Amino acid sequence: MKKQILILGGGYGGLLSALSARANLSIEEASITVINRFGTHQIITELHRLAAGNVAEKAVALPLEKLFKGKDIQLKVGTIEHIDLEARKVLVADGTTYNYDALVLALGSETNFFGIPGLQENSFTLKSVNDANRIYMHVEERIREYSKTKNKADATFVIGGGGLTGVELVGELADELPGICRKNGVNFEDVSLYLVEAMPTILPIFSADLIERATASLEKRGVQFLTGLAITEVNGNTVSLKDGRTIETNTLVWTGGVQGNSLVANCGIEVNRGRATVNEFLQSVSHPEVFLAGDCAVVFGPEGRPYPPTAQLAWQMGELVGANIAASFKGGKMDAFAPVFSGTLASLGRKDAIGSIGQNGIELKGAPASIMKKASNARYLSHINGLFALAY
Ligand code: NAD
Repeated sequence: MKKQILILGGGYGGLLSALSARANLSIEEASITVINRFGTHQIITELHRLAAGNVAEKAVALPLEKLFKGKDIQLKVGTIEHIDLEARKVLVADGTTYNYDALVLALGSETNFFGIPGLQENSFTLKSVNDANRIYMHVEERIREYSKTKNKADATFVIGGGGLTGVELVGELADELPGICRKNGVNFEDVSLYLVEAMPTILPIFSADLIERATASLEKRGVQFLTGLAITEVNGNTVSLKDGRTIETNTLVWTGGVQGNSLVANCGIEVNRGRATVNEFLQSVSHPEVFLAGDCAVVFGPEGRPYPPTAQLAWQMGELVGANIAASFKGGKMDAFAPVFSGTLASLGRKDAIGSIGQNGIELKGAPASIMKKASNARYLSHINGLFALAY
């Protein structure tokens, strides 16, 4: 009998699960439905560019319908309200329900505000195309306002969190703000662009040499680092730091960390700190008909440490999940997840980047790293056939 595969989420994990399931199962063998909040597959690794106005929206938001064209994968745009694991049924906010034989949870992660008072209410986040557009429009608006009122809080921009998201965003803003200022008759020297990081350094995943390189490159373009200083409270426009200092700003972007997805955490599946636990085949350890791809799951490496929630991992998990569902339907052998780490690249604006690539962690800086970062995006897009969707 024809099986039903239901995939929740159209990000890296969800999209690749769908494409891989279809590559392994004919239309007669299985129907595949993807439910996603948006009609687009969002390249969230490039959102920092959109947030600074350095890339067009269509380059980071690819219509899922086009990516699924000719593959007989159904798309439902909607917000998932409830997952009923016992009845094997998923409820969407508009009242429609979907049954399944195999369910893929690929709902990504959520921003973690760590319970810091006033933070969620008074900050922007960078998790979607809408978030990025909101930041860009707001930044432009603040500079326009500053040109009229000279209110220093309008010319003060604070990024909270010096992980990859925060650093990539601040690099892009450092490149784009001078142009936005010029357009509005504002002297860029009036602008304060802060990156606040609780730990002693930004980007601790890189070597001291690369961290120094990134810091120097960004400082040269006007970024002021406040490291070893946690944001402890946000009250309206006032950001308080651990040492008692305060910053008055009309723009705070919070990039201080992520946590599991609350729908997944609360659906009754076994979780570890809010992220679903999986066996080596990426099946839920409590519900074998449920497969997991991406940030909403936790995968432990051989040393017992969880792998970081990254796009490259979500992509690889999705591909395996699609193939393993097909194997499970056909009574075949499922494969164990064996991730390949190609390294980490951090963009530092339009023309600069740092990276540590390959199994041996070869270090790159400047143009070679920047080119590698662009190449890695192009590789992903061509893999998912996104170039076709872009050209449309
Ligand atoms: P993160 O958790 O990696 O970094 C958050 C940073 O915020 C940390 O350095 C933390 O010390 C800091 N922080 C936390 N609380 C703070 C506070 N109160 N005040 C000031 N600073 C505080 O989060 P992220 O950068 O969003 O990354 C999330 C995941 O996505 C990671 O696994 C990352 O590797 C991945 N990612 C990868 C790329 C890339 O490969 N280029 C880009 C973006 C994100």
